[in-house]
Amino acid sequence: TIYQELVEWDKKYFLHPTTVPKTHVEQGPKLIFSEGNGIYVTDIRGESYIDGISMLWNVNLGHGQKELAEAAKEQMSKLAFSSSFVSYSNEPAIRLAEKLVSLSPGDLNAVFYTSGGSESNDTAFKLARFYWQLKGKPEKTKIIALERSYHGVTIAAQTATNVPAFHEFSGSQISGVFHAKPHLTHCELGERSDPNYEGCIRYIVEKEGADTIAAVILEPVQGSGGVYIPPEGYLQAVCKLCDEYNILFIADEVICGFGRTGTMFGVEHWGVVPDLMTFAKGVTSGYAQLGGVLIKQSIRDTLVEYDDVLAHGFTYSGHSTACAVGLKNIEILEREQIVQNVKNMEQELKKGLKYLEDKHTIVAKSRVIGLLAGFELFADRDSETPFDPTVKAAVKVVEECFNRKLILRALRANEGHNIIAISPPLTINKDEIETMIQIIDDSIAACKQDLM
Ligand code: PLP
Repeated sequence: TIYQELVEWDKKYFLHPTTVPKTHVEQGPKLIFSEGNGIYVTDIRGESYIDGISMLWNVNLGHGQKELAEAAKEQMSKLAFSSSFVSYSNEPAIRLAEKLVSLSPGDLNAVFYTSGGSESNDTAFKLARFYWQLKGKPEKTKIIALERSYHGVTIAAQTATNVPAFHEFSGSQISGVFHAKPHLTHCELGERSDPNYEGCIRYIVEKEGADTIAAVILEPVQGSGGVYIPPEGYLQAVCKLCDEYNILFIADEVICGFGRTGTMFGVEHWGVVPDLMTFAKGVTSGYAQLGGVLIKQSIRDTLVEYDDVLAHGFTYSGHSTACAVGLKNIEILEREQIVQNVKNMEQELKKGLKYLEDKHTIVAKSRVIGLLAGFELFADRDSETPFDPTVKAAVKVVEECFNRKLILRALRANEGHNIIAISPPLTINKDEIETMIQIIDDSIAACKQDLM
């Protein structure tokens, strides 16, 4: 059959990202997605699944949005691609830049386009270093990121990433990247009596010397590292610390951006304005490959004083079709008041996770901000005793959910963590959230015996 042929070709010719190659080649693809509608995706054999994680936290407007397809078709038929190198430009890229600037906080007043999140973070590092060169401080090159962070897989982004498998993969790292413990408010406020002081950003800055540090990068809410919402005051403290030491503050909004957390951008929850803000995923809801870096006015002003070639840029920087899709995506976000829906549905998701915690003693530490959520599984939650890693508790629960037609994701399972992420399309409604919670409830009940 056609299905069997596709499976064979997949196994033979398609080397998949972040999969276990040996298992994949033996077993073949789990699903071959072929269609989608709202929060549902359908496999080529006709079975539908709830997409509880918006694929890779990116399909924010849900599947099958015809308007986005139309926007792509219209632009492709007119002019699918044109270069933005040298001084060429195109209308969708210009209009989207204006729109992004108008949406972003503070004086983030210019944009540099890329095709995705990793490229955006590499670009932010290079722009930060280049900015310091132009300012006569070429020795400011080091980057501080946080433990548990995920910033992508290009070599610089991979170095900033702290999820071990990704950070270490193939031994490819750049030098001069450090990791601080996240969320140690007292350290970052400068309390040297804090027992965790040596792990904090301030300690690294003081040890390495502020004159050597280009930038601090963090995700406003850490995503793939386990869905960690920072405590109140943390982002403000980091921002202040960066000001104090003359270090650029980069916010990685690749997951948080475009409504995911109930505000247009994650940093808005804490009222901070980064110097550079990277985005991707939600800017097009995954309908086209697009990312970028929003740049503060003062940095932009320094960059545009440079009287030689800015020797950085991708073939697809400012891709006409991708930008047309981005514009339409934002138009729908605003017109349909999607951010308001996220705020409303946050309450439903909170209720749902509370219900799961009340019902199942292995569920704990649920956290929800907008429609970005996670919860954990413990053998004994009162003493926070983890499950034996060989039990693979979160993986089992996710598998049971899958059997009940709900796609979720276990985070950092290979490090022995039992964190389950939920991040459905932002268009989800109350009934659909209840259905998801019911499936998780049934799935936990079904494998509880197995886990103990
Ligand atoms: N930054 C964050 C916070 C991400 O979650 C991701 C991807 O998941 C990236 C960067 C990398 O983006 P991409 O996979 O588009 O390169």
